[in-house]
Amino acid sequence: MNQQHVQLSAGVVELRLRHTFTIAHGSSDLRYNVMVRLVTDGLVAHGVAAPNPRYGETPESAMAALESLRLSLTGNLDAIDPLIRRMHGALAGEYAAKAALDMALHDRWAKTLNQPLYRLFGADPARMPPTSMTIGIDQPTVVRKKVRDAQFFKVLKVKLGGENDREMIETIRSVSQQPIRVDANEGWHQRDAALREIEWLAQQGIELIEQPMPADRHADMRWLKRRSPLPLIADEAFALPADLPRLAEGYHGVNIKLAKCGGMLAARQAIAMARALDMQTMLGCMVESSVGIAAAAHLAPLVDYVDLDGNLLVANDPFRGHPVRDGVIALSDDPGLGIQPSHLPNP
Ligand code: MG
Repeated sequence: MNQQHVQLSAGVVELRLRHTFTIAHGSSDLRYNVMVRLVTDGLVAHGVAAPNPRYGETPESAMAALESLRLSLTGNLDAIDPLIRRMHGALAGEYAAKAALDMALHDRWAKTLNQPLYRLFGADPARMPPTSMTIGIDQPTVVRKKVRDAQFFKVLKVKLGGENDREMIETIRSVSQQPIRVDANEGWHQRDAALREIEWLAQQGIELIEQPMPADRHADMRWLKRRSPLPLIADEAFALPADLPRLAEGYHGVNIKLAKCGGMLAARQAIAMARALDMQTMLGCMVESSVGIAAAAHLAPLVDYVDLDGNLLVANDPFRGHPVRDGVIALSDDPGLGIQPSHLPNP
């Protein structure tokens, strides 16, 4: 395709959260995404970047990266895998921006074939695992209300690693017997104490533990993996497929996020590689627009655990994606990502 037929535009949106969101790292009310729009011969495709401050990414750096990545959009846009690999090679870091462009290219490609993306990946929506719904750290009365509001989800995810971990679990268990996934967000710093906490959690109907200790504690994680009664899932410790062979020593599984690995192509590679290493797989997300959640959802039938609730935490999502029905994301047959503008004011 000729360069002059390709239009790429991007803009920062401020997402307001429905609830103040508290995890071991801190609290927040707002997040910033960069929405990407790719137009080729009248066909409109979308992507989203959720920049991660942990990796030095900001909305401004994502915008600058997209400006530079625009130059990779040459040649045949249908040859999607080599095009995305070239994009990855064109710039260091800035995985959120790369993920946004990767999503838009996938959306475009599937729309030209008039197919939903999951079908082109050989992902069967009937095999979609239920998604978890995150319950943030809060006062017991607020936690009980959030849990009651989330009762139609088949799995809850709870952020621990604070002062009142056991109280949080006991509060949830006072109103719900739903399976719970625990995300410690690196909050436990002593391996013995972490093991005692995990052993207690194993008795409370907890399904798995995400990132119990800081990401750089490989020796402690190898020790913990040998003793933990629950699967340990790497999140902060994982970014790229190349990290996986080492992580397999200290974790039973890995939480793969498009914004961290750079998009759907890298996520598919990570899923295949994790399976080959006998690791469990989870697809996670940032707090992000339905555009990014939809992109991950099209791959979600290929993984063991789904944690794709980031759009549900947002009050002013500029897009509408696939609904959660009975705790499971219901992928539509619409071509591409299958998302629509929500007709909210879209900055
Ligand atoms: Mg996590």
